[in-house]
Amino acid sequence: MQTAILNHQKITIEEYAKRYGSKKVVVFCEFCNEEMFPFALNSICVRARFHHKKHSKCLYAKPAKYIVKKNSSKINKALLQDIKENLNHIYACCKFFFRDERFLAIDFKEMLEIAFERDIFTFAKIDVWKLPFILLSLLEKVKINNKEYRFVIENDFLKIEREKYKIVKVFADSGRNVNGGEFLISKDFFYKIDTNWIPPELTNKLIKIFEEIFN
Ligand SMILES: [Zn+2]
Repeated sequence: MQTAILNHQKITIEEYAKRYGSKKVVVFCEFCNEEMFPFALNSICVRARFHHKKHSKCLYAKPAKYIVKKNSSKINKALLQDIKENLNHIYACCKFFFRDERFLAIDFKEMLEIAFERDIFTFAKIDVWKLPFILLSLLEKVKINNKEYRFVIENDFLKIEREKYKIVKVFADSGRNVNGGEFLISKDFFYKIDTNWIPPELTNKLIKIFEEIFN
């Protein structure tokens, strides 16, 4: 959420960041009065916001189910076309980082919904090849072999054009780097990833998901 209650007054996440930065100040949800905490204050990929604590029952707590805003007027149309044409590549790149873990079409759908909710598709300058890595970095947790990880991209990923970037797998709780968890990503990585293993039924599912989200 973009607002919370502090000392009986509404505060936006921007005001909070300006006034308190990384200082810990207790704020509350304006709907359920539960305590909340600021999230992604310094991230460039994720819109900063207030989060409920884990297992919150509040209707506005995420990511139980993302409420997809269909504000399609601002959406980057060229990007959408590219996404549609490269669904298999986007999917395969995400799957690569899930290793042997199950990664179903529905998981992919949730990632797209999260990105939608965070206005990723309105960015004027995103190349389609960057999308799977953005999707990964938006996940708060990825469970692989019963351990929880996050993926962190170098923070000039969307700002500066380079040939290669690093994406790093870190432990979700401590943020420590995982041994051998550094990957170089590039346009080549995206376009050369093997998609032949994706059966036509799955491709059809991906297209359906795309249409559900963006139409
Ligand atoms: Zn709440």
